[in-house]
Amino acid sequence: MSLIVQKFGGSSVKDAKHIQNVAGIIAETYLRGNDVIVVLSAQGDTTDDLIAKAEEINPNSSKREMDMLLATGEQISVALCAMALQGMGLPCISLTAWQVGIHSTGVHSDARIKKINTERVRAELDQHRIVIVTGFQGIDRRGDVTTLGRGGSDTSAVALAAAFHADLCQIYTDVDGVYTTDPRIVPTARKMNEISYDEMLELASQGAQVLHNRSVELAKKFRVNMEVVSSLERKPGTKIKEVAKVEKTNIAGVAKDTSIAHISLVGLQHSPGVAFQVFALMSRKNINVDNILQSIGRDDTKDISFTIHQKDMEAAISILEENKESLKFDHIEADNKVGKVSIVGMGLMSNAGIAAKTFEALYEAGINIQMISTSEIRLSVILDEKDVNRAVKAIHDKFFDMD
Ligand code: ADP
Ligand code: ASP
Ligand code: MG
Repeated sequence: MSLIVQKFGGSSVKDAKHIQNVAGIIAETYLRGNDVIVVLSAQGDTTDDLIAKAEEINPNSSKREMDMLLATGEQISVALCAMALQGMGLPCISLTAWQVGIHSTGVHSDARIKKINTERVRAELDQHRIVIVTGFQGIDRRGDVTTLGRGGSDTSAVALAAAFHADLCQIYTDVDGVYTTDPRIVPTARKMNEISYDEMLELASQGAQVLHNRSVELAKKFRVNMEVVSSLERKPGTKIKEVAKVEKTNIAGVAKDTSIAHISLVGLQHSPGVAFQVFALMSRKNINVDNILQSIGRDDTKDISFTIHQKDMEAAISILEENKESLKFDHIEADNKVGKVSIVGMGLMSNAGIAAKTFEALYEAGINIQMISTSEIRLSVILDEKDVNRAVKAIHDKFFDMD
């Protein structure tokens, strides 16, 4: 007998028919003699619809109340799924994060799981019940509801798998595995049988929506045996492992992120401490900064450019403007019509040709690069948002369409 965590995303539970299908998968796993913990997302576009509802009432709603609202989506899914399983005559119980005791930090809309109480779920499993838990939610020190960030149900599933030492954590979704890039943008993308935690983490962090990046981080840390599979077709998916078989190309895949904004501070003084001051301000506002570029301008001035999440653009501009006197810059240029395309793979560590080939692909497609950044196993370019999909395709074709 094994303990299996099965997570189903929004599209897999979008309506009654899909919930019955999901209940069928769960039932099959349970009836084979396994303990099953199920984690569900909100149905279909529920989370987006709830956000729209909030905006209609008050576009500046507090993050606490947004979490209170958004967490309701997952509660609907778990109750409906429990009803479907009950209809099949199977013992089960749905639980919210609060009932389980999924403790998180208090950062509303971006909370991190700190600890999971195991007593309640363990007691239910001991009664041979299927336990169905709301994804995406946590509970903070004060007992307030938090959410883990968009796509965060994957992280709930992996955290539960880690807490219960599950034998397997299956992420069921609307694609049958992890591909070399988003198969909806590039139909020739290839499915990978396996991928390493490190490469998957980079792909997810750079925008490959198929997994929440923190879920991969946790899976790596706690050695969770994880796989991405289709909820619609019964076929092998993609396993995420410590070491994956190296592909011929040495490149795992290409990801895109269009939720970024580019900020440039033009005409800063070229003196020590300026960068420190700028990024200390960002950090004070909890704004994550990604690519940073500094260039020397005329008259002993410098420009500092960086990228942040689009949602932070207004906050970043206002704190910089508030500190204009001490920072002594000339002006700010901000642009949220930019995107980032990243190529990820272990091969980047040892193969200088990969960078050249990436730039060649962009040159041939006539695409201009605004900024470049690299890490050990990743190369990212910042581009005009309108060029992003074309860039993904051009780079992907260059590496994967030759053999
Ligand atoms: P769920 O609702 O199940 O959580 P998501 O929409 O969050 O599903 O993630 C699945 C989607 O991720 C796919 O439909 C696909 O368009 C997208 N995606 C992006 N990059 C990749 C990739 N490299 N491999 C597979 N799917 C990807
Ligand atoms: N329902 C949440 C979202 O839409 C969480 C998730 O789907 O993982 O972001
Ligand atoms: Mg998702």
